[in-house]
Amino acid sequence: MQKILIFSSEINDRLHYAASFFLGEILGLNFEWTDNEAEFSEFSFLKINYSNQEICATSFWMPPHDLLFETDILAQKIELGEWKKWPIFFENKQENADFPFDFLAATFYLITRYEEYLPFEKDKFGRFSANQSLAFRGDFLEKPLINLWAIEIKKIFQNRFSTLIFKENTYKFQLTYDIDYAWAFLNKSAIRNLGGFLKEISRFQFKKATERLSVLIQKTDDPFDTFAYQKTLHDRFSLLPIYFVHVGNYTGEPDAPINFEDENFRKLIQNLAEKYQIGVHPSWRSHHNSGVQKAEIGRISTMISKKIKDSRQHYLRLDFPQTYQILIENEIENDYSLGFSDAIGFRASVANSFFWFDLSRNKTTNLRLHPFQIMDVTLNNYLHFSPENAIENAMKMIENIRVVGGNFTLLWHNNSLSERENWVGWRHVFEKTIEKAIKK
Ligand SMILES: [Zn+2]
Repeated sequence: MQKILIFSSEINDRLHYAASFFLGEILGLNFEWTDNEAEFSEFSFLKINYSNQEICATSFWMPPHDLLFETDILAQKIELGEWKKWPIFFENKQENADFPFDFLAATFYLITRYEEYLPFEKDKFGRFSANQSLAFRGDFLEKPLINLWAIEIKKIFQNRFSTLIFKENTYKFQLTYDIDYAWAFLNKSAIRNLGGFLKEISRFQFKKATERLSVLIQKTDDPFDTFAYQKTLHDRFSLLPIYFVHVGNYTGEPDAPINFEDENFRKLIQNLAEKYQIGVHPSWRSHHNSGVQKAEIGRISTMISKKIKDSRQHYLRLDFPQTYQILIENEIENDYSLGFSDAIGFRASVANSFFWFDLSRNKTTNLRLHPFQIMDVTLNNYLHFSPENAIENAMKMIENIRVVGGNFTLLWHNNSLSERENWVGWRHVFEKTIEKAIKK
């Protein structure tokens, strides 16, 4: 097995994590560290000098930024430059350097979501929005920047070591759903339905009130019950989606009033679990409360008699590092929350999954983060795209992911497939996006 060697006077968790992801996971290279100059000079294959001194002319020299040698979380001064058409930062001024910037430190900054630990202006739900990000400032929200850097760096390595074997990254598609409300009207208590009905009458929403009555006396289907439609698509396109299910206690919005003790609800989830993967959709109020989240995970787990390992935060409510620390406490192994509500694209500037690094403890964890790039609600409610516009933007995004052999993760809701109110015409968007996503 080919091995490359990296020289650094200090080898620590931050540095090892960044190299393991960029060189190991993305490029597929095996590497070893050394802090011994003599050993480094004697090594005859590909080697990277990650220090401020030029050591040996046959190595690739990357003068480091301080970030990976620091242990605190500090405000970082970031100036954006350009290299091979792509934005870069953490540049060095060394003429003889083989790379004009520290791609390990820059990757670390982006995938650890370093900037989300620093003070920022929260949105109305207390979240980090896209316009607070470096990706927004550098205009690379819709680009998997780390993958694009990796392609350039691979070429540079290959130029000097043509026998070097890299990993072939292949494009993959994963469909995911959040179930906030399984039904608009059905399987709710009589009191809740009566309350809803009276509210609609008092607000002159006669159409909705009539629809509620019609569904309740079973003349028409519940508009949010789009599960049969989903299944026809899964069968047609051979898809195995993941469903994230909200089973929190309802104490007010933005949590969803789900009656998780209802027999029909239980049956629905059990049915889905027969074919598909089921994850938890931790409620708004479980956010900083490990015990509440544990109870929700237990509810689903009991329902389907399986251990729950996958999760996505309701409303994408995500605070670093607390949210992920709680998920780890509750033995969740995969999180799918990493994306923006208000923009499509790459929150961590990469089109792959990766292990979460807890910056507050300077430690790599076993929690795997699976970023998503497109959410239905973003396209319609935040960006106010028409269905045609949404399709066009989804096509471009999928292309950007395909080019780098990344993972495209799509987030949809059962109630967005209702073909009612502002979702008329969105089944078409959903189908077109899937067709493009699976096209060979
Ligand atoms: Zn939700």
